[in-house]
Amino acid sequence: MPSCDFLIIGAGVIGLAVARELKRRQPAASIVVLEKEAAPGLHSSGRNSGVLHSGLYYAPGSLKARLCRQGALEMADWHERHGIALNRCGKILTPLDAKDAPRLESLYARALANGVRVERLDAQSLRELEPETRSATGEALWIPDAAVGTPAAVLKTLANEVRQAGVELWNNAELARVDLVARQAFLKHGERVRFGYAINAAGLHADSVARQFGLGRHYALLPFKGLYWKLKAEANLCIRHLIYPVMDLRTLTLGIHTTPATDGAIYLGPTAVPAFGREHYQGMRGVRPVEALRMLRDLARLFLHDSEGYRQQAWQEGRRYFRRGFLDAVRALLPNARAEYFTPDAKTGLHPRLFDQRRGALLQDFVIEQDAHSLHVLGATSPAWTSAFPFARHLCARIEHPATTKAEATDEPDF
Ligand SMILES: Cc1cc2nc3c(=O)[nH]c(=O)nc-3n(C[C@H](O)[C@H](O)[C@H](O)COP(=O)(O)OP(=O)(O)OC[C@H]3O[C@@H](n4cnc5c(N)ncnc54)[C@H](O)[C@@H]3O)c2cc1C
Repeated sequence: MPSCDFLIIGAGVIGLAVARELKRRQPAASIVVLEKEAAPGLHSSGRNSGVLHSGLYYAPGSLKARLCRQGALEMADWHERHGIALNRCGKILTPLDAKDAPRLESLYARALANGVRVERLDAQSLRELEPETRSATGEALWIPDAAVGTPAAVLKTLANEVRQAGVELWNNAELARVDLVARQAFLKHGERVRFGYAINAAGLHADSVARQFGLGRHYALLPFKGLYWKLKAEANLCIRHLIYPVMDLRTLTLGIHTTPATDGAIYLGPTAVPAFGREHYQGMRGVRPVEALRMLRDLARLFLHDSEGYRQQAWQEGRRYFRRGFLDAVRALLPNARAEYFTPDAKTGLHPRLFDQRRGALLQDFVIEQDAHSLHVLGATSPAWTSAFPFARHLCARIEHPATTKAEATDEPDF
């Protein structure tokens, strides 16, 4: 039976970044990465917006603020060193409603506190920078260092790099069950592998993998679907920047925004509408009745308790599932946009939000659970792609020096 020192479950950006970091720290260690799909990065890591977030949303000094800011620098550098396309387009944050003025001020203060370069724009400078958007208050923020990367190319290059460093990457290798006493992992197709330490980076499945190791018992992932629309090439709109609305901090979603991708396409979205399966990308595929009922029950609890303003989010996001609701959100951001300018895009991602079943609330944090033989990354939602490299260092430090606490959570909103 094959054996390894470290077994990593999941070849998304987190699993691969951890493999790379572990190999750097312990060159002699044997590392196997299990990936259930035919190639790495086919779920969130390959289906995201590719925005290198700057870290302005998160509580100053918090883990997410630190990881995101540092991660954006390293991810940009990674693109450039590997010749991967990067659009250093910058980001505009604009209030769509007069009552958003205090939120804009809070974000400005947070950006300064987090060391993020930020400038105030008045109506005139906003018009000059991006004539297609508007501000309800006459003010907006400009974050010059925000950029858009190329997730698929990053995943491919990262997978090649870890392979060359001697990490074994097993595709079509789904972890089905674990024998904790013998420290053996049983794969779906019958193979087995013995491991010294396991790292769970299974993204949308991280909660069920953690439960097999006897951890993460209080959590269940709730998937939210991120749908995108694309600006048609012939549309009479010239968008050059990331343009985000100033969001309601309680609803925990970024809102419909523009993303100028590295291939020249302009995406609008993503939404965050409830999905009923961990891989419920389209139609009814990926929906399992028992699991869908659990998700429905958890969503109903959120709705009843109105945790973190969930009712408002449900209403707002529910509308965006439909063409008209989506286009209303687009027109709020881009007043000259017309319905015929946009077409739904096939790209769909699923945000794995972590639901705390004790509190009946969505967690806003990265949650890490750990014991002597395994470490679990739960709820690695945005900005985990941006943060992947410093996040991997943080996780490896925890593996080498296990914390005395079992669970760790950052304490800030998840955007
Ligand atoms: C619509 C959308 C937009 C986003 N936009 C951004 C953005 O602009 N910027 C940003 O920083 N972040 C963004 N994110 C978040 C970011 O994509 C994720 O945080 C990040 O990709 C998570 O990486 P991961 O490796 O944890 O998960 P994943 O990429 O999902 O990887 C997990 C892997 O584990 C595998 N796996 C699961 N179960 C098993 C098993 N039992 N055995 C073997 N393999 C298994 C899966 O097949 C998968 O490949 C976005 C997310 C979404 C959904």
